[in-house]
Amino acid sequence: MVIREGRWDCPTCGSRGLLGRDLACSGCGNRRPEGIRFYLPDDAPQVTDAARLAEARAGADWICEHCGVSARATQDRCPGCGAARGGSPEQQTHEHRFAEPPDEPAAAAPRPRKRRWKGPAALAAIIGGLVWWNGPVEVTATVAAKDWARAVEVQEYRTVQEEDWSVPSGGRQTRSFRAVRDYRQVLERYETRTRQVSERVQTGTRTYTCGQRDLGNGYFEDVTCTEPQYTTHYRDETYQEPVYRREPVYDTKYAYQIERWLPDDTVWARGDASKEPAWPAVPAGRNRREGARIQRYLLRFSDGEGKTYEREVTADQFQRYRQGQPVTLRMKRGGGDVQIVERKPVN
Ligand SMILES: [Zn+2]
Ligand SMILES: [Zn+2]
Repeated sequence: MVIREGRWDCPTCGSRGLLGRDLACSGCGNRRPEGIRFYLPDDAPQVTDAARLAEARAGADWICEHCGVSARATQDRCPGCGAARGGSPEQQTHEHRFAEPPDEPAAAAPRPRKRRWKGPAALAAIIGGLVWWNGPVEVTATVAAKDWARAVEVQEYRTVQEEDWSVPSGGRQTRSFRAVRDYRQVLERYETRTRQVSERVQTGTRTYTCGQRDLGNGYFEDVTCTEPQYTTHYRDETYQEPVYRREPVYDTKYAYQIERWLPDDTVWARGDASKEPAWPAVPAGRNRREGARIQRYLLRFSDGEGKTYEREVTADQFQRYRQGQPVTLRMKRGGGDVQIVERKPVN
């Protein structure tokens, strides 16, 4: 066990750094009192002298109950008044532990330092540039032309052939047959394979100084602690891997005839500003009906200097904009989607 000599400060005259071995102050000569607080300088060397080591290991000092003088554990009588030790109290001993075990030399790699990211300013500059490039511009123009188109799908009620896993209501079965409806995984065999596994294995223990014990006589003893040390071992391990085979599942499928409404034709109506939008007439016929309807409205604009723009609009917008009406268009600087700036009427 490593022994180091502590220090103490005289509470009477204020002398500092008195040697642990001293039972009296070298400044004022007063005896070391009970309850004195010993401390250990950071660079305190290891004690090697045999006499000092014996002193350190003898035990805590005792304090004479008659005159208060400090006496060594090896002394039977008080060096101050000569009284026997009797029931005199001992100097307190205690242990101080370091907050953390010291790093091992191998683990003492420098910690990565956090760097401040200087990106935000650069990014803001880039975004600023993009906003300018893609930023909206406004153009004054007039409605040069209006085009509309409307279409109606025409459906016909026809007899068709279909196949399914059951015959729906209204269907007339023509035949049935076996067909693959699904697949299932069937365990076929196991294959022996190898994989690498890691294990944490204890390689030994490490002993380190984890604190200091105040021996109550001016000396300190290093407290040592041990901790297990580990390494990671890799080894190959065999295991059984299941191998599956895909197997079809058969079921009865039915072929049948059934009547369905199916798209047959599409009729269109088109026009411009001179003609109100209207739905096309669907020629009447047996087993025919109207299906889905679609409508599209387009406004074309001219800025009077040869530049034209167009925008698909709603039916409501198409009604509101007359041919020749001035409008403000907004678009991105680089081109693209044209928006109509709709300003609220000023009263
Ligand atoms: Zn003193
Ligand atoms: Zn005494």
